[in-house]
Amino acid sequence: MGGSGLVVRDLSVGYGPVRAVRRVSLEVPEGAVVTVLGSNGAGKSTLLRAVSRTLSFHGGAITEGSVSLGDRRLDGLAPDRVVAAGVSQVPEGRRVFARMTVADNLRAGALGAARSGRAAALARVHELFPVLAERSGQRAGLLSGGEQQMLAVARALMAAPKVLLLDEPSLGLAPLMAQRIADTVREINAQGTSVLLVEQNAALALRLATRAYVLEVGEVTLSGPADELAASDEVRRRYLGVV
Ligand code: ATP
Repeated sequence: MGGSGLVVRDLSVGYGPVRAVRRVSLEVPEGAVVTVLGSNGAGKSTLLRAVSRTLSFHGGAITEGSVSLGDRRLDGLAPDRVVAAGVSQVPEGRRVFARMTVADNLRAGALGAARSGRAAALARVHELFPVLAERSGQRAGLLSGGEQQMLAVARALMAAPKVLLLDEPSLGLAPLMAQRIADTVREINAQGTSVLLVEQNAALALRLATRAYVLEVGEVTLSGPADELAASDEVRRRYLGVV
């Protein structure tokens, strides 16, 4: 694989005695869209939090294994150093700063990144999401759910990441808005950013991704090219609702 891919190796994560992720290994090759599917509580968010190192905010810790980007280990870094190393997360539930303006939310996303790239990053996100340029001075809490999701993605892009971690971007959105977010993820990827996408909406995720992993009770039970998984009986039955 490419020299700057994201590699998770034998990763286990616990919240105190709860083992939420068990010896998970996965790779996001440079330029790829990779998805992790799984039902509620399978450990998908925990996996992303372990990569972004925001785990400690949730009372969790890595108990074994490693996370690397290229030849750089990420699993010992503080969250802002992970951003600086090129990995940004869009958290589940969007979590925009509701009382801050759209512009200030975007500024906050650029904090960990090099100052020199900020104007270019802002131009890029305004091009991807013109509505955010229009609403620049408005409080983020006044945006619609879909617009808040756009802002959450845009905020993560402000750090010009090599890898974008997306936690359930379609959650709670109407199908049309979910599709718009998916189209944007494709565009972001086409511009050169790798994507690790966690989703309960398996149909949408398998259309976007080239490779997929299925997580069940913290363990990878299936993995392979997304089109092969989309055609497998087990995935069709359990995650695509085909009987
Ligand atoms: P969801 O889609 O519901 O977020 P998920 O696949 O992302 O599900 P996680 O949120 O990673 O799953 O949860 C994995 C396991 O870890 C679950 O058993 C959950 O109860 C537990 N867990 C998650 N967060 C915490 C926490 N902060 N403290 C203790 N246990 C937690």
